[in-house]
Amino acid sequence: MKKIALITGISGQDGAYLAKLLLSKNYTVVGADRRSARDDKWRLRKLGVENKIIIEDFELSEITQIIRIFNKYKISEVYNLAAQSFVGSSFLNPISTSDVTGLGVLRILEVIRNLKYKPKFYQASSSEMFGDVLESPQTMKTPFNPVSPYAISKLFAHYTTINYRKAYDLFTVSGICFNHESPLRGEDFITRKITTGLSKIKAGILDCLEVGNIDAKRDWGFAGDYVHAMWLMLQQKKARDYIIATGKMYTVRQFINESLKYFDFDAYWTGKNENEKLVLKKNNKTIIKINKKFYRPNEVEKLLGDASLTKKQLKWKPSVNFKNLVKIMSLSDLEVYNR
Ligand code: NAP
Repeated sequence: MKKIALITGISGQDGAYLAKLLLSKNYTVVGADRRSARDDKWRLRKLGVENKIIIEDFELSEITQIIRIFNKYKISEVYNLAAQSFVGSSFLNPISTSDVTGLGVLRILEVIRNLKYKPKFYQASSSEMFGDVLESPQTMKTPFNPVSPYAISKLFAHYTTINYRKAYDLFTVSGICFNHESPLRGEDFITRKITTGLSKIKAGILDCLEVGNIDAKRDWGFAGDYVHAMWLMLQQKKARDYIIATGKMYTVRQFINESLKYFDFDAYWTGKNENEKLVLKKNNKTIIKINKKFYRPNEVEKLLGDASLTKKQLKWKPSVNFKNLVKIMSLSDLEVYNR
């Protein structure tokens, strides 16, 4: 019998990579997707899996839809990747973010608790829960200190996942993922914003890229590696939570500088704070500048994960380092915009 996996958030970055991984392991993949007028299957198409998975209508705020899917399929593993996942938007839409990213998880777990069969459940937790970090690097023992509606909602979901494991003896686990990127990352997120922005400037369809805090530090890994860790977590005998991270931290500025190499831009930084900008040497044209509009109301300055336990117990390690990640993303967007 083939195992059936349910992936919520199938149209997102991780959903596509995870679907590809599970298909390669001979799962039947049911992808839960909310209806959209936009083309939300482009990632699945890009990885060549769009026609290999079953798509079901799904909205995290509608419990009846969740019940319907669990009644229709005997699901072995649930990967809950669906969320309003953009920190910036969570400040503009705090109530819907809490409803989807926080309460949505409780809805799924309540449905699972009342089922006759007991699927394993993975929750996509976030390093943003560490927020204004209380120690560095962050480990499973580091206290949380969330500073955005997104992170607070994720923390509610995280503790709900732990509570259902302890209170009801369910196999429910949380992966605290640090930032992970790829050519399939949404264009609002800073790494992809940089690689698409520089590609558009190179193609002559954008003059200048505007960014927020370029001194923010992040622990960036490759999404393809992270979905592998998610799968490993559900294959363990014992249900427990893990940190998924590379253990290396770089600034947004370093990401930009590394990416520039692939666009043949000879440029220099000038100015201070909000007036800092990146200028082309050949004609003094500004190609990147700071816009305070992109600052978060509450900034998370640095995130750095300690995944040593994950590496040891799951025998997992990231295969793509920072330089390669920037290379893959830059070359991919360069090709898209400069054909
Ligand atoms: P993503 O690309 O933004 O995908 C989010 C998915 O959730 C999309 O498929 C989206 O559907 C779906 N969704 C949003 N609201 C929904 C709703 N109300 N009902 C049903 N589905 C809904 O995110 P990702 O990068 O793949 O990340 C996957 C998960 O990991 C997310 O929960 C994210 O918060 C978490 N996470 C990500 C990172 C990272 O660095 N990528 C780090 C830590 C944690 P639409 O296409 O219709 O919008």
